[in-house]
Amino acid sequence: MAGSSETDWVSRFADEVIAEAERRAPGKVIVCASGLSPSGPIHLGNLREVMTPHLVADEIRRRGYECVHIISWDDYDRFRKVPAGIDPAWAEHIGKPLTSVPAPAYSVYANWAEHFKAPMIYALEAMGIEFHAISQTWKYTSGAYREQILLAMRERHKIDAILDRYRTKDKSPALKQTPVDEAEAAAVEGSGAASEDDGTAAAGYFPYKPYCTACERDLTTVTSYDDETTELAYTCVCGFSEVVRLSEHNRGKLVWKVDWPMRWNYEGVVFEPSGVDHSSPGSSFVVGGQIVREVFGGEQPIGPMYAFVGISGMAKMSSSKGGVPTPADALEIMEAPLLRWLYARRKPNQSFKIAFDQEIQRLYDEWDALERKVADGTALPADVAAHSRAIGTASGPLTTTPRPVPYRTLASVVDVSAGDGEQTLRILRDLDPADPIDSLDEVKPRLDRAAHWITTQVPADQRTRVRDEPDAELLGSLGDAERESLRLLLDGLDDHWSLDLLTTLVYSVPKLQAGLAADAKPTPELKAAQRAFFALLYRLLVGRDTGPRLPTLLLAVGADQVRKLLGA
Ligand SMILES: [Zn+2]
Repeated sequence: MAGSSETDWVSRFADEVIAEAERRAPGKVIVCASGLSPSGPIHLGNLREVMTPHLVADEIRRRGYECVHIISWDDYDRFRKVPAGIDPAWAEHIGKPLTSVPAPAYSVYANWAEHFKAPMIYALEAMGIEFHAISQTWKYTSGAYREQILLAMRERHKIDAILDRYRTKDKSPALKQTPVDEAEAAAVEGSGAASEDDGTAAAGYFPYKPYCTACERDLTTVTSYDDETTELAYTCVCGFSEVVRLSEHNRGKLVWKVDWPMRWNYEGVVFEPSGVDHSSPGSSFVVGGQIVREVFGGEQPIGPMYAFVGISGMAKMSSSKGGVPTPADALEIMEAPLLRWLYARRKPNQSFKIAFDQEIQRLYDEWDALERKVADGTALPADVAAHSRAIGTASGPLTTTPRPVPYRTLASVVDVSAGDGEQTLRILRDLDPADPIDSLDEVKPRLDRAAHWITTQVPADQRTRVRDEPDAELLGSLGDAERESLRLLLDGLDDHWSLDLLTTLVYSVPKLQAGLAADAKPTPELKAAQRAFFALLYRLLVGRDTGPRLPTLLLAVGADQVRKLLGA
């Protein structure tokens, strides 16, 4: 794919970023960036903040350029609220940096931020995302931003004037969009705080906010600042007050709208997308563009706005997690290439949903169909590109399932076998006797994902329970035609014991009964007869009108039990 362009949205951005990087600083490592706030569980929707620059950075690397993808952990942000499911006593930590808040009681991690970073780091690694993590706590408390902070304080009147151009617009009620639900609210919150206080105080405008030396909270007010000595005086609501020298003080941070452009310049970021909340007039991205130029003498990154990613389903998520699905949750029900594909195939400004419900089966069918098209060379160039971005990175391929048996088949097999490994293997072996599956390893990790999906996401009343004993009452009430249909099925069972042949058999029984050839074209009458026959089989086998696809179900139930339940 070296040198390719215009294949898909990723290629187009890579072209743009490479050209911009060459213009700014030829030959330097190209920097793409993301920011994540570990203020609570990192919502699956926030994965777009990472996936968009990841895909672009990966394309740039594929073309042979050096490129780094920075993920800034906004772990020096204030702890804003206690999420659902956490001890309300944590409210005493509101206002402290996220790295100074104790982790939830059950955690093995050193602090709040580390606790919520860990599952995200695991998920990013599982998805093949290479990144360079930067802890903002470490940067600020080590004094790395000293010069930038002193510069921002010197230029505070200019910053105040820039912010003031937008302050009146901020009051427009049209800009205050209400998130549709808890999940969206969590996603929108994302990195930084779009609505954070911008540094205005009674004593003037100060873009730097100290964390209180006594109580560690940011409930502080700057009361004076001396440019000559860098002496800064503040008071805190806890009653503490002091004067510090900003030339040596390392316990505070720039307000978000100044912090972000400062880091664009400090890190030399060429590409950093942002969520819809950061791109409206007066937003951090727009204001940041002026601040980075007029105050820091740098340039704004290329920063497309990305649309919201929603979730469909998520029936049985544990409430201890606050009902917020994380990327790690998604990776328990789908393989990494599939999750990558969902992001690669949609332009950042297109919203989409990640399926935790039945829709995941259709999604997997679509993915398998794409893999076949790619293999036989009939896929469109943009689809080939999305596929290639899904299955690997510039560093190599990701883990895939050697034999990609349809997800819906695996889910049905696990459903019927109740997860019993031996029974699962027996059923899988029968799927295609000409080329039998000899080990569960051949269908892993997809099998494990389907198993996790069926056991955690499918409600009990939609699960399949094969009858132990025949439904004598129903069998006794059947008419001659229905008895004959069961007999035709049972007579053909042994000769048709594979997925393909059983499919032929179950469709042909109503045809034979109607005096038609096995390959007769379906008519409305025939379709009605087939539906009635299938419903009868479901009632006799699993006591419901529907269930997994019949050929899979028959294989799963096993020939002996099928004979018993159908009254042979
Ligand atoms: Zn205090």
